[in-house]
Amino acid sequence: MTAGLPVEHELPDRVGVLVLGSGLAGCAALLAAAEAGQYAVMLEKTGDIGGSTVRSAGLSAFAGTREQLAQGIGDSVELLKKDLMETGRHVCDEALVDLYCAHQLETYEWLTGHGVEYGEVHAASGQSVPRSHPTDTTGMLVRLLQAAGRLGARLLLDTAAERLVRDDGRVVGVDVRTAGGTHRILADAVVLATGGFARSPELLDRFAPQMRHALIAGGDGCTGDGLLMGWQLGAGVVDTPYVKGTYGIFHEPHPDEDGTGILAVYKGAIAVNRDGRRFVDESLPYKEIGDAALAQPGVTTWQVFDAQVMAQSNDEVPIYEFAGRSRAGMLLEADSVDELEQRIGLPAGALVATVHDYNGRIAAGEPDDLGRAHLSGGVGRPFPLEQPPFYAHPSGTVVLATYCGLTVDTRLRVLDVYGEPIERLYAAGEVIGGFHGGGYMTGTSIGKSGIFGRLAGTHAAAEESELEW
Ligand SMILES: Cc1cc2nc3c(=O)[nH]c(=O)nc-3n(C[C@H](O)[C@H](O)[C@H](O)COP(=O)(O)OP(=O)(O)OC[C@H]3O[C@@H](n4cnc5c(N)ncnc54)[C@H](O)[C@@H]3O)c2cc1C
Repeated sequence: MTAGLPVEHELPDRVGVLVLGSGLAGCAALLAAAEAGQYAVMLEKTGDIGGSTVRSAGLSAFAGTREQLAQGIGDSVELLKKDLMETGRHVCDEALVDLYCAHQLETYEWLTGHGVEYGEVHAASGQSVPRSHPTDTTGMLVRLLQAAGRLGARLLLDTAAERLVRDDGRVVGVDVRTAGGTHRILADAVVLATGGFARSPELLDRFAPQMRHALIAGGDGCTGDGLLMGWQLGAGVVDTPYVKGTYGIFHEPHPDEDGTGILAVYKGAIAVNRDGRRFVDESLPYKEIGDAALAQPGVTTWQVFDAQVMAQSNDEVPIYEFAGRSRAGMLLEADSVDELEQRIGLPAGALVATVHDYNGRIAAGEPDDLGRAHLSGGVGRPFPLEQPPFYAHPSGTVVLATYCGLTVDTRLRVLDVYGEPIERLYAAGEVIGGFHGGGYMTGTSIGKSGIFGRLAGTHAAAEESELEW
């Protein structure tokens, strides 16, 4: 997908702003730095652009957009902040939450101004009103890179930064391993946009051993390089206790599993374990459902739903693409709950009793024994599962993103373990920590990559050159 992009083959010796990583955080930083008049260059470790961004479900969390307005969804920055603080369990960095809130709408305008288009808005994890805006992420990155290229920015593929170079306390560039040895690129400022570490078994073992039985997704190059490079210079690392997996992925590797899984629970399904019992309030953020699923016997669970849920299938939103999963043979289907229970192989009568109890409480207006009052977050009312056919999706927990990382300030400068900025080093996207805190709202990972990536590029571009050109 690199046709038409400003790809360069020769390693430069000196640049203005050097961006590491070509996901959304890197592309936004590159374009912002180029728009600020800098000679901006991006290094991408793999042979293609996009990292986890292009594998994602493409949902961004914004509040107050034209799409929400057109759908009659009332939202506000105040409500977004309240939801972010609550989802983050108030251990998130409020200054970063404020930064997101203050710049989300202007970044949405900046992205749409560059031709990015968003589809129908949906509710998902941690949102008290629908604010997940879907987009084609590959198309988005191509647009940003083309715009940056028109301003003179350049992209080098198959080029991994190995170490940051520091002189007199300041970051002055990076070393890149080449076939012939090491090449040094000097820069006025460096932006780390290298993504998370879902693909590093060592870092997962170190920071998130609880994910030992989870499946893994994420860009191939997401091995925590930026985290290690910053760490080597004394950067702080935050939010590591809160690495969580996401619920809903097909329970074993499958050719049609794109890594996003489905969240039929947010459209009315229940989740059951091997005993045929519900084990969680299904309206909780999918990271919390993911934790609960990992604790179930055999680590396998099923999302069970009926024709009413299937009728809400949406091919444009991967997590709600139920019909596609059915076509791919990933759903078990039956005309009755009894038959479905047998097809899954659950203990006789267990699922029938669970569905009977669930439906009965809803019909009687009694509180749910697991506390479910909504479909997702604060949106929607549960309804009885009673319309055949019935479906089951074998569902596990997957590490899509790692959500913790380097400490940064509100200028996206990387801070050392004492809270002092490491001069001329910036970071954005999944490589940073602090923003999500103890929980996760859908769309805020891509959201923060765009918002903070753009800000990081702008601030990095403001560093005065000390290099001789
Ligand atoms: C299946 C899936 C679904 C998801 N769905 C959503 C969603 O709907 N909404 C949401 O908000 N989030 C979602 N996420 C998470 C989200 O996609 C990521 O957190 C986000 O895209 C990260 O963007 P980034 O720019 O920080 O990193 P990435 O997009 O991962 O890009 C980082 C890039 O840096 C490169 N790199 C790494 N090391 C080096 C190095 N040393 N030198 C040069 N380059 C390097 C990598 O190869 C990679 O290309 C999903 C993730 C997955 C895997």
